[in-house]
Amino acid sequence: MKLLSLLFVPKCVSCGKRLSPENDAPLCKECSERWEKEKSARCNTCGQPIASCWCGVKADVKHNIIAERHLANYNPSAESVSKRIIFAMKKKAYRPLFDKIGAELANEIKRFIEDPEKTVLVNVPRIKRSVREYGFDQALVLSESISAVLGVPVVEALEHIGSTKQKKLDLKGRTANAKKSFSVSEKHKAEIKGKRVILVDDLVTSGATSARCAQLLKRAGAERVYLACVAKA
Ligand SMILES: [Zn+2]
Ligand SMILES: [Zn+2]
Repeated sequence: MKLLSLLFVPKCVSCGKRLSPENDAPLCKECSERWEKEKSARCNTCGQPIASCWCGVKADVKHNIIAERHLANYNPSAESVSKRIIFAMKKKAYRPLFDKIGAELANEIKRFIEDPEKTVLVNVPRIKRSVREYGFDQALVLSESISAVLGVPVVEALEHIGSTKQKKLDLKGRTANAKKSFSVSEKHKAEIKGKRVILVDDLVTSGATSARCAQLLKRAGAERVYLACVAKA
């Protein structure tokens, strides 16, 4: 353990500043303060504090998502700690970061859990070639961190069966692409039947992906679907 901490110099995941070796926090003091400030901002659309934003997911036209929670606003064109966090979560399965964000998200979504026996977490699965490239699925690692706090299990009920990333598509293209990119895993189907599912993702932009995943989970017998994400555009 000592040797490891000598070899590994922790850095702030947001600004890259070196942190003291005994510090296992993912953010330096300044970035940590900026992150707290970003979380206390108001929603760009409804004007409510983010923790009580009532916008939901616009692409979810069939209302398969009963309620939604996110920690911060996401603006791709502005520099922010939330943007750096999202970026860092895609690159590396750095446990201190996932555990910090997971605990913060767990605190926001614990209100969704009336019956822990009936509730499961389901990650929005990452595109397969990125899992191969980076070696992990960020929403799955995040789900595991949330699970450790809330004590509800993670079920890998969804599969990513597509090959096109959403990022470069417009809304119409994203809706069409989401429709053919996900399916419910036959292996885990029974584990979501009659359950209250909290769908977990790192970033929600158009909402086309989460809307499609929620629809599939409902069709497979989930009683309700909630959504939890780190940041929402
Ligand atoms: Zn920093
Ligand atoms: Zn809002």
